[in-house]
Amino acid sequence: MTDLPRVESLDPAFDRYLLPDSKFDQIISGVVFSEGPVWVPDGSYFLCSDVRTSTMYRWSEAGGQSVYRQPSNSANGNFLDPEGRLITCEGGARRVVRTEDDGSMTVLADTHAGGRLNSPNDVAVKSDGTIWFTDPDYAIIESDGGAETAKEQDGNFVYRLDPESGDLEVVVDDFDKPNGLAFSPDESLLYVVDSARTHGEDRPHHLRVFDVVDGRRLENGRVFTVIEPYIPDGLRVAPSGDVFTSAGDGVQVFTPGGQLIGKFITPEVAANLCFGGPDGDTLFICATSSVWAIRIRL
Ligand code: MG
Repeated sequence: MTDLPRVESLDPAFDRYLLPDSKFDQIISGVVFSEGPVWVPDGSYFLCSDVRTSTMYRWSEAGGQSVYRQPSNSANGNFLDPEGRLITCEGGARRVVRTEDDGSMTVLADTHAGGRLNSPNDVAVKSDGTIWFTDPDYAIIESDGGAETAKEQDGNFVYRLDPESGDLEVVVDDFDKPNGLAFSPDESLLYVVDSARTHGEDRPHHLRVFDVVDGRRLENGRVFTVIEPYIPDGLRVAPSGDVFTSAGDGVQVFTPGGQLIGKFITPEVAANLCFGGPDGDTLFICATSSVWAIRIRL
């Protein structure tokens, strides 16, 4: 029998999230490496990516687990735009795409400054419709036959894309391996993970936070928190402003001031999470072969 995740409260401030009768449900299983969770309210279903098998899975309360898209071009991060359309980072195809209402796909970004993107990893869409995504080099240095020589960008950047004009701008250029990213509820802050410890113990394993200036530039970047003992990947910010970040051993919860107040500890490595569910109060955690769901008080 699979071990269940468990909750570890480190401060009374964390207990606000806990409901007395909540339990963890394993809604998806048999995945190689689950990532890219998103809840789709229009249709009331959950989507996630299995990067390693180039598959996207869907789950709904009525229909259970099913394949949503295969092959998925090793899709990774997902997010909805303000119109509810799915925005996907296709790491294997080195591009960011939008799924239209009729099911067709529109390529939103695949090149910058004349070179192909590295391998878009995760994405957050701002309320103005702009698409912010990270472009580390994971998929091009790890894929079969892939090599650093395939890299066509000078670094691993964070981008802001205006899907109306097609303008693609680098908003941060000094990350080692930028990964998950999320805006604060009022969009005055952007949190961005650096997960480069995957390629060296001494490399970054922290979250940085930036001030969002004029809704389009990032300034005053500083380290928000260093994750131990493992590595952060994806994150979300709760309506309270608390930061829920994957941390390898599960999900860790921090106040906006950076205090660790509690954990959702998973039986396997957790890479990402999202909020959603029919009532908007479910925490979904992608933890390697499984996705776990638990109702919380958001
Ligand atoms: Mg990621």
